[in-house]
Amino acid sequence: MEYKSFIGGAWHETSDSTPNVNPSDTSDILGHAAVGGADDMARAIDAASGAAAQWAKSTPQQRFDVLDFIGSEILARKAELGELLSREEGKTLPEGIGEAARAGQIFKFFAGETLRQTGDVLASVRPGIGVDVTRSPVGVVGLITPWNFPIAIPAWKIAPALAFGNAVVLKPAELVPGCAHALAEIISRSGLPEGVFNLVFGRGSVVGPELIGSNKVNAISFTGSVGTGRAIAADCGKLLKKVQLEMGGKNPMVVLDDADLDIAVDVSVNGAYFSTGQRCTASSRLIVTEGIHDKFVAAVEERLNNLNVGHALRKETHIGPVVDEKQLQQDLDYVDIATKDGGKVTGGQRLNRDTEGFFMAPALVTETTNDMRINREEVFGPVASVIRVKDYDEALAVANDTEFGLSSGICTTSLKHASHFKANAEAGMVMVNLPTAGVDYHVPFGGTKGSSFGSREQGTYAAEFYTTVKTAYTLP
Ligand code: NAD
Repeated sequence: MEYKSFIGGAWHETSDSTPNVNPSDTSDILGHAAVGGADDMARAIDAASGAAAQWAKSTPQQRFDVLDFIGSEILARKAELGELLSREEGKTLPEGIGEAARAGQIFKFFAGETLRQTGDVLASVRPGIGVDVTRSPVGVVGLITPWNFPIAIPAWKIAPALAFGNAVVLKPAELVPGCAHALAEIISRSGLPEGVFNLVFGRGSVVGPELIGSNKVNAISFTGSVGTGRAIAADCGKLLKKVQLEMGGKNPMVVLDDADLDIAVDVSVNGAYFSTGQRCTASSRLIVTEGIHDKFVAAVEERLNNLNVGHALRKETHIGPVVDEKQLQQDLDYVDIATKDGGKVTGGQRLNRDTEGFFMAPALVTETTNDMRINREEVFGPVASVIRVKDYDEALAVANDTEFGLSSGICTTSLKHASHFKANAEAGMVMVNLPTAGVDYHVPFGGTKGSSFGSREQGTYAAEFYTTVKTAYTLP
């Protein structure tokens, strides 16, 4: 399979390509992706810029039909797309199919939103004047996405961008070209005018600056690591370009003495280790009060012993591989760092399976304190640490003592503590007796502090980023 860039309504060859390797079995090459250059990106921006005015004038019905077509096809093909996703990214098959379904549902949600675009009509404070507030498209939006949700994250940026009348240039992560290509192929048959949607493969450091620096691109929506995000925000700031960033997390899960132990273990294991811990919302700090600490640690260790790590497409697998060698090495390095800093590690070693892949036993690091590197920096793998605390007040203080603020959870049967935590957790998303990862598709997603910048993604709140507001005054 050749994954080509899609520019101005046509598939675009490049001389250079890179293999798409299955992390469960490195002998399985799914295809080869084009490695685009700055000139390809410039062509895609020109195509989007040329098509933007026409799409901005499209009717809600035209937009609905396009988005509904894309959503319906993704949902109808979720098993096949989920398998592709699992093969290239390493999520288990149920996780892959779940993510594909979510992408379809997002397009369906924003198809509905095309019919619900409203404004405000107000009375002026001055006599005889009418005021109306309407939303217009931003113009050309550049979308930059990471590898860990290769179909859902592109979907949750593309769908609102198109629904609100913008033209799009998508730059997906290098590791996952298959899902981006499949999505572009569906979009190419959706009835969208040529040039409204463009896909450019290539290295972030090569095609990214062209996208960010172009004066024909009006806004950038980025999801990825903190370092890349900060650099993009600085560049956009210099150009006064609208920018939205979703970045890392160091998400706490607080477990109180009064928690239901089974729920706390389920929620923590799911939040920390499923999807191989490669979720920005993964629970990486388990903050546990002393009365339940030992029972909780023993129960989590027992659960981890019963989880199968293996090939993502096998039925018996609970946890698939790490995405690539570099990420696996980073995960193993953090386990070493945690050990050297005084943590006690269960699991956390590289595993051999009957295929060559990037397998790692889930790691639980106990006896840690919140100032250790393992509790300050995002690992982005199947690694979680336990911090023992005295009581709820200390748990809340430790949960909030981080530069991140994406998702924050608590397991408790106390309404008082749950209510207080919801009000005082410094995070964009708060979970009570639920994993920190795993969210609905119709409500806002995003964080506070170093995790996010700009307006929220998803749900009706997406309008804030993908539109600009106009206030008109009329004296009849
Ligand atoms: P990354 O920052 O390495 O790459 C993200 C994207 O940016 C890729 O498409 C990459 O090619 C591109 N890029 C790299 N350099 C660039 C440059 N100079 N200019 C423009 N684009 C450039 O991140 P990753 O490793 O793909 O993803 C993992 C990270 O993403 C983790 O930190 C994770 O927490 C974060 N993430 C956050 C969320 C969220 O919503 N908060 C969701 C998923 C992942």
